[in-house]
Amino acid sequence: MRRTRFKGLVGLFTLILAFLWAATVVADEGQLLAAIDEQAGDYKAVSQKIFDFKELGQQEFKSSQLLMEELRKLGFKVEGDLKVPADLVKGGVAKTAFRAELAGKGPGPTITIMLEYDALPNGHSCGHNLISTSGLLAAAGLARLMKDTPGRLLVIGTPDEERGSLGMGKVALLEGNHFDGTDMVLITHPGDLWSVDMDILAMKRATFVFKGKASHAAAAPEKGINALDAAIQTFNGINALRQHLRQDVRIHGIIKKGGDVVNVVPALAEAEFAARALDTATMEDAYAKLINCAKAATLAEGATMEYKPPRTTLLSPIMVPEYLALVVRNIKAAGVKEGEIVKGTLLGSSDLGNVGHAYPTVNVSFKVAPKGVALHSDEMLKYTAPDAGWPATVQAAKAVALTAYELLRNPAKVREIQERFRQLKENERK
Ligand SMILES: [Zn+2]
Repeated sequence: MRRTRFKGLVGLFTLILAFLWAATVVADEGQLLAAIDEQAGDYKAVSQKIFDFKELGQQEFKSSQLLMEELRKLGFKVEGDLKVPADLVKGGVAKTAFRAELAGKGPGPTITIMLEYDALPNGHSCGHNLISTSGLLAAAGLARLMKDTPGRLLVIGTPDEERGSLGMGKVALLEGNHFDGTDMVLITHPGDLWSVDMDILAMKRATFVFKGKASHAAAAPEKGINALDAAIQTFNGINALRQHLRQDVRIHGIIKKGGDVVNVVPALAEAEFAARALDTATMEDAYAKLINCAKAATLAEGATMEYKPPRTTLLSPIMVPEYLALVVRNIKAAGVKEGEIVKGTLLGSSDLGNVGHAYPTVNVSFKVAPKGVALHSDEMLKYTAPDAGWPATVQAAKAVALTAYELLRNPAKVREIQERFRQLKENERK
């Protein structure tokens, strides 16, 4: 009898504790969402300014200064002029990149939010003004709770995404060790759908310079060696290979030089190629075949060929299903309906893939435009303008903030995702 009553009391006590815990969690998350709603107006104005600056890659001085200023106001320790390898960025300083840090209460995970802010020649038709301010707004919401939250928030300003294959954006920052200490990464991207898929193709470029021998094309062709034919045979070799390549593999090229006048056998030809695939290992295999095609063509023509491996390679991200599921849950918690979150489409290549190959990373694609409106098109400018795109940007900020907040308070989950990431990366080649 006594024992039963004791058991009953323990049960009741547990129930009360569970209720209190649940109430705190809800209250905290409610607080986070309220903090975002409250500050959303201010950051919409920031987004409009960046939209109007429309600065191209490596020239995002005003945009990066503005973002750094806002992060300082939020209490972040901000560092600009980041040191990077000098063979990637002239002078070895990434002048429009920055790294901002906000420590929480005691030790815990480090969650990194990336901001992009470079434009294209036609303006912010890729919506990087919304990427930077959704991340900034998420950081602003989280900043209010960090004094009671374990771990650390990093906000990294990553310039020049549009020319990512040159390595002057995220590749340089990774090589400069500015992501060090990161456990998990988050970023957003506007477009015509809600999705967390990142079908990003790994990519490597190759430029071949073929050298032959000039001679009269009609009077003495037998004395010439045709460098242009070596370039053409490279294309033919690759075309024959296509049947035996996986469907996601892309090898595409152009002829940059192919002779000067028609009555001289071309002594010099230059062709540039890119090889891509959905995973880095498959791309490297296709790349090796591409090089072999150029070598075989050179040999067949009796020409010579110069080829220098590129300085940078774009990688494809390692996607962890458990991390994607966690983010999807938080997108829904930010008010996006289940049916609206869809399978993403092929995205081409991006330096985002290199970050996603180094750390578990999720990109929240958010819908600002009707289905079918293409990124980089003039039409997209109507939707990346904050007056149109802001409500979805706020939802994306909420999804990022809720995810970061959940991870900061759950180191076991972070370790579990990291372990899965490591296993998937090991099996990439298999
Ligand atoms: Zn773009």
